[in-house]
Amino acid sequence: MIVMSSTEEIKQTLARNYQFVQERIAQACARAGRSPEEITLIVVTKGHLVERIRYAIELGLRKFGENYPEEGAEKVEALSDIAELEWHMIGHVQSRKAEIAVRYYDMLHSLDSLKLGRRLERFAAEKSKRMPVLLECNLSGEETKFGFLASEQSRWGELLADFSAIAQFPHLEIRGLMTMAPFYEDAEKARPVFRKLVELQAYLRAQLPEIKWDELSMGMSSDFEVAIEEGATMVRIGQAILGARPRL
Ligand SMILES: *Cc1c(COP(=O)(O)O)cnc(C)c1O
Repeated sequence: MIVMSSTEEIKQTLARNYQFVQERIAQACARAGRSPEEITLIVVTKGHLVERIRYAIELGLRKFGENYPEEGAEKVEALSDIAELEWHMIGHVQSRKAEIAVRYYDMLHSLDSLKLGRRLERFAAEKSKRMPVLLECNLSGEETKFGFLASEQSRWGELLADFSAIAQFPHLEIRGLMTMAPFYEDAEKARPVFRKLVELQAYLRAQLPEIKWDELSMGMSSDFEVAIEEGATMVRIGQAILGARPRL
């Protein structure tokens, strides 16, 4: 039997991938006159086994993102022997999964409705936890995407009531915004979406100055360099570091 990829080979591939991603982040920062220290790298582990996450941890990575509350929670438990891991929930959270999101995760990137905000507040209060959140915005108007619908700039005012209400929840702490661009072969095409999130951030800073809007979670394997050039502070990268996902 021919063993296609030994553990050593997989580890080497991950190390190379990680180094290459770091170089690309540094180059995108250089083009934009930014410092790589401004960028938080979240490694998206959805669909990957715990074993592979351990290889990533051996490389020094500590911040991971998961899409499905329960799948991620299992990994949080399986890796609880390692201190200092940070877990980010980046996928849609159904209201009935809000408790899991609060219990297992350090930050939620995908707060996409006032209703979910209310549920999170309730569970965070029960656990006396203050949960950092990002408000996910749908800027492309794609119906398959979650997020507060913000594709039409002329209607941004309609978001303010919900955003202020979320800001009033004592156990949630708004840190900024998150978006997902549609998938394009050519990452340049995603640029207007990222630019729009920056414009929305400026609008919100003016309208709701009491809230902190500093974080912008945008950019994934296919488009993170463009996102960084446009102002991303957090990039969510899966495949470019961990390789193709074995299962979803
Ligand atoms: C899967 C996913 C990512 C990472 O995608 P890659 O193509 O593997 O980099 C980032 N953000 C969200 C919301 C995702 O669902």
